[in-house]
Amino acid sequence: MTNVGFIGLGNMGAPMAVNLAKAGYDLLGFDLVPAACESARRAGIAIASDAASCVRGRDVAITMLPAGRHVLEVFRGIVPAMTKGALIVDCSTIDVDSARSAHALADAAGLRALDAPVSGGVAGAMAATLTFMVGGSDDAFARGETILASMGRRIVHCGPGGAGQAAKICNNMLLGISMIGACESFALAEKLGLDRQKLFDVISTSSGNCWSVSSYCPVPGVGPKSPADNGYRPGFAAALMLKDLLLAQDAATGVGAATPLGAAAAALYGEMVEAGEGDRDFSAMLPRLAAAHR
Ligand code: NAD
Repeated sequence: MTNVGFIGLGNMGAPMAVNLAKAGYDLLGFDLVPAACESARRAGIAIASDAASCVRGRDVAITMLPAGRHVLEVFRGIVPAMTKGALIVDCSTIDVDSARSAHALADAAGLRALDAPVSGGVAGAMAATLTFMVGGSDDAFARGETILASMGRRIVHCGPGGAGQAAKICNNMLLGISMIGACESFALAEKLGLDRQKLFDVISTSSGNCWSVSSYCPVPGVGPKSPADNGYRPGFAAALMLKDLLLAQDAATGVGAATPLGAAAAALYGEMVEAGEGDRDFSAMLPRLAAAHR
């Protein structure tokens, strides 16, 4: 049986680890925070005493951590404890440079490595319906695909090391821009006296349609159920959207790419977080724009 060490048992990591255990993997978990370990233990995950012993002798190590610096710190600690040829997969959303450095650490130790950030949020992590955007060699992908499929529904091999993170930030930059666009349209419609349901009926069947309108409408009571119907409780918190937009801006600066709308989206979500609304769903941009005046 394939055995897996899972490091980072937070909002996303814990349900992902539980799904791996349900799929029959022999699982050992670890988190720096004792409360996270305790709640994973209650969910049936065996807990290691530290990160290195979580992965020592394991076929696969998976990390699900906040940011690039945490991933590199953990990789520096666990890579030397792993056996040559084993697979290490980072599922966190991090900057492309750190992802490439993590690949380099793993390569130097003779490990197979994947960057495999996800889309789908906590609900997708719980339901094992995540989309994985994967970077790494064909060999590493072939080794990791089945494991990822126990935690998700779509596994896309995007290219070499770092390509998963690149795909993730490009997708989320577009999502942030399109959500603001949807919110602007509904806020303008309201000021023009247009019924919000009528606008939904038009946009969702017209050329302006996008996921932010048809699947995740920011207007309460309109379209399929979304965080707007639940007081804008996340969902996908505005602070996490800001994190991804800033990663996209860093990446764009690094390669000299022009992303004026991405920059504007980062600025608007920055203001939302500054205003203390970082833990609201990112679609709560609508009440902010509706209340604003030129
Ligand atoms: P979280 O803060 O709930 O979990 C991260 C966990 O990592 C925490 O429990 C923390 O204690 C642990 N950790 C930090 N440093 C550690 C270390 N050195 N060793 C061991 N454990 C350590 O965050 P989350 O919401 O689970 O998100 C994890 C990643 O997934 C982030 O990169 C995030 O951007 C990404 N992501 C989150 C969502 C979401 O909706 N929450 C969606 C897609 C992607």
